[in-house]
Amino acid sequence: MAKMKLRYFPDPVLKQKTKRITTFDSSVRKLAQDMLDTMYANDGVGLAAPQVGVSKKIMVIDVTAGDDEDDRRNPIVFINPVIIESEGEMVGQEGCLSFPGVFFEVKRARRIVVRYQNLAGKELKLEAADNLLCRAIQHEMDHLEGELFIDKASSALQRDLEMTKHGFMEGDVEELEQQVKAAGGTIKLHANEPVIG
Ligand SMILES: [Zn+2]
Repeated sequence: MAKMKLRYFPDPVLKQKTKRITTFDSSVRKLAQDMLDTMYANDGVGLAAPQVGVSKKIMVIDVTAGDDEDDRRNPIVFINPVIIESEGEMVGQEGCLSFPGVFFEVKRARRIVVRYQNLAGKELKLEAADNLLCRAIQHEMDHLEGELFIDKASSALQRDLEMTKHGFMEGDVEELEQQVKAAGGTIKLHANEPVIG
């Protein structure tokens, strides 16, 4: 088990576009395993390579992570993923391992079909709709493009409040709370939701 060091916002590697993987060798398998070890150790359900400082198109997801039983683990390694179908909308809370403690609502497609390669280089397709897997795939794929969930918040006020509360932004927490309330928003977030990654 090899844990990698997590990169936190505003580490510049998080803003870089990643490179496609073209060789499916033992170094890619080791990277995937190290990423999974890092994801499980940090209680995330997903992790993209830039979050461990690697600018390559690979991400891992396990929506059963966080369950206590080790044998419930069901990891998926996505290499060079592309969304080939996308429809509808869903709004839900997201956290990110690169922004410890921060949670806010993000709008995503309700249903997607993603095409990707596995560790053997084989092309596969996966459909996900209305669930955590669907949200996690979209969140992690954004990381591969150098995009972050802070640019996709449903409410900029709610995001700013969370970012300020957790030291990622300068601001007046009380004033922001009042503004969020005045706008009819929720200030009590991060219930028991998993951190997506
Ligand atoms: Zn993330």
